[in-house]
Amino acid sequence: MEFEKIVDLHCHVLPGIDDGSPDLEHSLDLARAAVADGVTHILATPHHLDNNYVNHRTDVIKAVQNFQNELEAEQIALQVFPGQEVHINGDLPQRYADLLGADEKKRYMLLEFPHSNVPAYAKRLIFELQKLGTTPIIVHPERNKEIQKDLNILYDFIQRGALAQVTATSYVGGFGEHVADISRQLVGHRLVQVVASDAHALQGRNFVLSEALKQMATDFGPEQALEFESNAEDILNGLSVTANGYRKIEKKKRFIFF
Ligand code: FE
Repeated sequence: MEFEKIVDLHCHVLPGIDDGSPDLEHSLDLARAAVADGVTHILATPHHLDNNYVNHRTDVIKAVQNFQNELEAEQIALQVFPGQEVHINGDLPQRYADLLGADEKKRYMLLEFPHSNVPAYAKRLIFELQKLGTTPIIVHPERNKEIQKDLNILYDFIQRGALAQVTATSYVGGFGEHVADISRQLVGHRLVQVVASDAHALQGRNFVLSEALKQMATDFGPEQALEFESNAEDILNGLSVTANGYRKIEKKKRFIFF
């Protein structure tokens, strides 16, 4: 299946500001790979407030303007928007002015959990962000160790009004069969609403966003891929996107032998 547009909501394409692309040349190559994959719009989402990186709102906006100028000079047909992958911190409401949303009005924001666990304060924090008018989009839940053990932890967040983004590489098996299997379960139970590249650098692999969308179309029907694509577009535009039809994951029953 072909897409007229592909919006990538999670990408470390900006040069030299986090663990994504190291320099401008690499960023331009990443942008060319994205365009070759059919991507037309990228939300640039450098890490913010994780252990290693701070990328203030105004700095990201400036970096995106500069990078957009470079893309135009190189005649690469890609539009880039400023965003952040905001690491979960208890004081995000106090830092709210320094945060960027996935859309201009901060109706949505990418929210990253630690790799190993889900902090106990996550529910309260998500509620506080919602009170400020922001729906958090939990990034790559399929890669979180605690959620991997109990996928219904994500169900609870979705039921409370959060959204979630699965990573394309996860879905196509780039992080192993276990993560791919979890990703398929999350899509099948409608516990994720969008797929994004989370591309950091080109490591002998091409952009796999369209591959993931095509695989989803094969697994769950073309309407699933179309829905994910239009959700990404609507999120970028600050339009309404809600989780619907999501289901709890039933634990596999064990046979008991007497
Ligand atoms: Fe990321």
